[in-house]
Amino acid sequence: MSGQPVPLGQARARRSLTGVVRWDDNFVTVGGDAPVRVQSMTNTDTAEAIETAVQIKELAQAGSELVRITVNNDAAAAAVPHIRDQLDRMGIKVPLIGDFHYNGHKLLSDHPACAQALSKYRINPGNVGRGDKGDKQFAQMVEIAARYEKPIRIGVNWGSLDQDLLARLMDENAGRAAPWEARQVMYEALIASALGSAERAERLGLPREAIVLSCKVSGVQDLIAVYQELARRTDHPLHLGLTEAGMGTKGTVASAAALSVLLQQGIGDTIRVSLTPQPGEARTQEVVVASEILQALGLRTFVPSVTACPGCGRTTSTVFQELAKDIDDYLRASMPVWRAEFPGVENLKVAVMGCIVNGPGESKHADIGISLPGTGEAPAAPVFIDGEKAMTLRGEGIARDFQKIVDDYVRRRYGQHQAAQSPVVG
Ligand code: SF4
Repeated sequence: MSGQPVPLGQARARRSLTGVVRWDDNFVTVGGDAPVRVQSMTNTDTAEAIETAVQIKELAQAGSELVRITVNNDAAAAAVPHIRDQLDRMGIKVPLIGDFHYNGHKLLSDHPACAQALSKYRINPGNVGRGDKGDKQFAQMVEIAARYEKPIRIGVNWGSLDQDLLARLMDENAGRAAPWEARQVMYEALIASALGSAERAERLGLPREAIVLSCKVSGVQDLIAVYQELARRTDHPLHLGLTEAGMGTKGTVASAAALSVLLQQGIGDTIRVSLTPQPGEARTQEVVVASEILQALGLRTFVPSVTACPGCGRTTSTVFQELAKDIDDYLRASMPVWRAEFPGVENLKVAVMGCIVNGPGESKHADIGISLPGTGEAPAAPVFIDGEKAMTLRGEGIARDFQKIVDDYVRRRYGQHQAAQSPVVG
């Protein structure tokens, strides 16, 4: 045996500035010692205030701590204060971020109630206009942010990169004795656009900690390279996300791969998973994936975890898969209520195992575990609570009985701490 223990696995910390996103008397901290925040974006027409408020509510209840909405025209800007009012009436404490492109300077100037109701503005330096006109429009948005004391995100995206800046860097590169690869020039353009815009925003009066940066690209290795360099060059809080990640498994895996590498290095203060919903899929899926990434890395806990074995030749029926899915669905569906009633319940660990090989062992590591009978085993399912065998379930009602055992355990273990509950944000 080696004389030194293997170091404990843990994500590294990057010390960024602490920003605060406020609305009314509420606030969410971003960066610094704050946990990595989950952000999401609606896909409703913002002008449809009720529909948008309902989707924001769904995203917030799924665990999104900041929600971005498109503000693209007068009708959308006019709807924003009504959306805020509607959320307040529903008791939904989540800050709204306005996503502006092309006409943000005008909308924020023409709709002061919108400028006030939003908690943060996203500005894309590639879409504020070109040359002097662009400079003026950028300055106009930043001055409004300073006046209303709102933070901003300088959100650079390689699909809408500042073309003048890119052309200048390409020219400079052509003059190098050993020119960089085109992708490296693109990386530099993304980073220079973000840092240059942040410097300008500071000169225009925004506090440094009120400026979040992002440089989104759609390739995993590109994102990792760009953010590693961006994090090296600045202490601004960073918003992290793989843009246009795609649909389904591809988008989920690509986002998890890119974000995990960076989060493990301490890079990223807020994250968004930009999934294209499959037809009929809930918008909240992007929140579920973002939360799962943070939870899998051990950075946050959002929902009770279900450890389930993959099943094998010892699980020839679907009972085990159905029970694992039922319990997972039940825990997730219960969370909007449980989060308020049973503080700490998100740390619950449940195991659903398919047979005797690893079932009892894994079940003992969980708070509650059940080891179902594999093929050829006696039709009995021992249940373990806090590491001890507590009972054995049999018959047709195993799923229902196990769900009740989980429910009773949650009430018993987490139900006594209601008085200690703190607000979701802070
Ligand atoms: S616990 Fe049993 S059923 Fe599950 S994968 Fe292992 S051997 Fe197969």
